[in-house]
Amino acid sequence: MRGYDCMGRDMECLRCGEAMRHIKTEKIQLGQTGWILGDIPNLLAGAMEVDIYSCPKCGKLEFFLAGDTEGELPQKQCPKCGKMHDFDYPKCPFCKYSYYA
Ligand SMILES: [Zn+2]
Ligand SMILES: [Zn+2]
Repeated sequence: MRGYDCMGRDMECLRCGEAMRHIKTEKIQLGQTGWILGDIPNLLAGAMEVDIYSCPKCGKLEFFLAGDTEGELPQKQCPKCGKMHDFDYPKCPFCKYSYYA
């Protein structure tokens, strides 16, 4: 019984091929410049969870969206018009509601 690999994701280090270890799942606030994603996340709003993995051999870190979001962006609902859209829009594509206003 091994308790630490309950995430069930098999990761190999892209650099050296070593099996990567899940370190933790971190909730990050989007819409601010984060320590994880650098300059990218000003496109985003809200919060999301990332799984953080590290390679025990070369120390490379990898980040993945937590949960069942592989290959597909999560959707969120516009608070103004109620339509669903990809969650990385800074504005609602339907009614132009701005998440930063
Ligand atoms: Zn490695
Ligand atoms: Zn809208």
